[in-house]
Amino acid sequence: MTERSCDVAVIGGGPAGLAAAISAKEQGAKSVLIIERDTSLGGILQQCIHPGFGLFYYNEELTGPEYGGRFIDKVETLGVEKLMDTMVLQVLPEGTIICSNTRDGIVKVTAKSIVLSMGCRERTRGNIQIPGTRPAGVYTAGAAQRLINRQNEMVGKKVIILGSGDIGMIMARRLTLEGAQVIVVVELMDYLTGLIRNRVQCLDDFGIPLMLSHTVTRIVGNKRLEGVYIAKVDDNKKPIPSTEQLFPCDTLLLSVGLIPENELSREAGIEMDSITNGPVVNQHMQTSVGNIFAAGNVVHVNDLVDNVSKESEIAGRAAAKYAMGELPETKRSITCVPGENVRYVCPGRIHLTGEDSEVELYFRVNVPDERVQVLAIHNGKELYKRKAIKVNPGEMEKVKVLTKDLEEGCLKIQVVSEDEYVYG
Ligand SMILES: Cc1cc2nc3c(=O)[nH]c(=O)nc-3n(C[C@H](O)[C@H](O)[C@H](O)COP(=O)(O)OP(=O)(O)OC[C@H]3O[C@@H](n4cnc5c(N)ncnc54)[C@H](O)[C@@H]3O)c2cc1C
Repeated sequence: MTERSCDVAVIGGGPAGLAAAISAKEQGAKSVLIIERDTSLGGILQQCIHPGFGLFYYNEELTGPEYGGRFIDKVETLGVEKLMDTMVLQVLPEGTIICSNTRDGIVKVTAKSIVLSMGCRERTRGNIQIPGTRPAGVYTAGAAQRLINRQNEMVGKKVIILGSGDIGMIMARRLTLEGAQVIVVVELMDYLTGLIRNRVQCLDDFGIPLMLSHTVTRIVGNKRLEGVYIAKVDDNKKPIPSTEQLFPCDTLLLSVGLIPENELSREAGIEMDSITNGPVVNQHMQTSVGNIFAAGNVVHVNDLVDNVSKESEIAGRAAAKYAMGELPETKRSITCVPGENVRYVCPGRIHLTGEDSEVELYFRVNVPDERVQVLAIHNGKELYKRKAIKVNPGEMEKVKVLTKDLEEGCLKIQVVSEDEYVYG
């Protein structure tokens, strides 16, 4: 067994891990180590060759590899250490990481603080249990994206996509550009689950139809997929049998949600949020285990990489301060709770230390709504109020509060309709 130690260990070298490592180093941590199971840094960005990254962070429209490349260059310049092609197997709460690779076998890393940034994985056919045969030609959208964009392998010619999330819509455009016929994008909900900009740029611009309130009920085919049955769903999301119709196709892409990669977090005894499936964190992205921080999609699934970079910088800075004994002690803690039409709030806690600061809270709504007020309420007082023309579950929203305004108890975030709404 090989042993090594560092101030801050970052697990995962995607955009979250890269930003966390850079800010930890810039904050003054002497040794920062990224442990990544892939042979190259960049995470999911490596396969996202479409533009749309960095609009807020850089005020530029970059492709995934371009966006990731800027952070990778900085990691190299700052002398962040890397342990590549190395899978983390276990994180022990006292700061020990057990990992393995083919060069060194088992490696034990001891770190003063740890940032978890393992991203998330896609839900599969098994997760949503579509009945039928098990032919070739059924892929998750991200797997198909990796095959086409990184391995130059085309996945099919006549394609149906289940799920109107961003990855599904981006793949609808990508497959069309590669010469496939995308017959339809099918969505269970009665609203789009991804970003509206992706519907416009990836479906509408290419004439790809979107069927809301429909689902795939059966998969047909022996060796290769021959078709799928699609049915309309009722108000309880149950397929209506009389509406079932066979759609011939050779490929089905599933874009039916992402699950944060949290086996390591759970095993480390970290408190988890039952809605996000990620660790509960405070405004420093610190988990319930004080020396372990978390950032990016492992905490909650982000729509924009720009937000991932911003929150990961907070995690990296705080992890460095913790390692150097500079993170202020918590005096009181506020719980951030979802109110009307809010699914979850991240961070779920705000730790009050006596220092005044501004905290940004991210949240998603449960259902789309128009002409609303976004509110942050604390002990009956309105700490934040904003009007919004539209809110959509596919787009993350945020509010800001000042720690000096917080006393004890809960901070509730809610989105309420305004019948008499006047914008402006
Ligand atoms: C298909 C797709 C299209 C997207 N399009 C856009 C877009 O147009 N614009 C935009 O702003 N955002 C987009 N995003 C969102 C953005 O890319 C993600 O939010 C971002 O990549 C999340 O970063 P992350 O570092 O948390 O996760 P990831 O990028 O997934 O990185 C996680 C890393 O952790 C590593 N890892 C995991 N477990 C272990 C382990 N046990 N040991 C070692 N390493 C491990 C993985 O190998 C990976 O490198 C898109 C995302 C996807 C999936």
